[in-house]
Amino acid sequence: MDQALWEKCVSFHGHSCPGLATGVRAALIALDFFMDDITDEDSPGISCRSSTSKCPSDGIRCVLNIDDGRGLTTEEKPGELVFDFSKDGKHIILTSRPGGKGLSMEENIIRILMGKAEDIFDIKTRY
Ligand SMILES: [Zn+2]
Repeated sequence: MDQALWEKCVSFHGHSCPGLATGVRAALIALDFFMDDITDEDSPGISCRSSTSKCPSDGIRCVLNIDDGRGLTTEEKPGELVFDFSKDGKHIILTSRPGGKGLSMEENIIRILMGKAEDIFDIKTRY
C-alpha cells in the first residue's frame, strides 16, 4: 500500500476510517485490473457505480479522480457494499465481505488495505 496515497485520501475525506479504506482498496484493485487499458494514470477513465455515497465513495473519488456526474454514480442502498467498476465495456464488481470482528479500527484499516483481495471482497468480472 502506497502510504502517500493513503494520506492524500485521508486528507481528502477528512478522517481515517474503515469505510474510506474499503473504497481506496476497491479502487486500487480496479486500477490493477484495468492496468493494461490505462494510458493516463492521473485520469484512468474508470467509471464506478457505488452502492453508497458515504466514506467508501470518497476513497474511490480520490484514487480514480472521478466524482458524481463525472464517472461516479452513487445509489444509497442499505446492506452490502457493492462497487461496479467499468471501462470500455469491461467490468470488475467488488462486494465487500464481512470481516474485522474483534479488531481495533486501526487494525481493521490495515486488514482492508493490506489483506488478500479475495478476503476483503467477493470479486466478479464481466466482459
Ligand atoms: Zn469516513
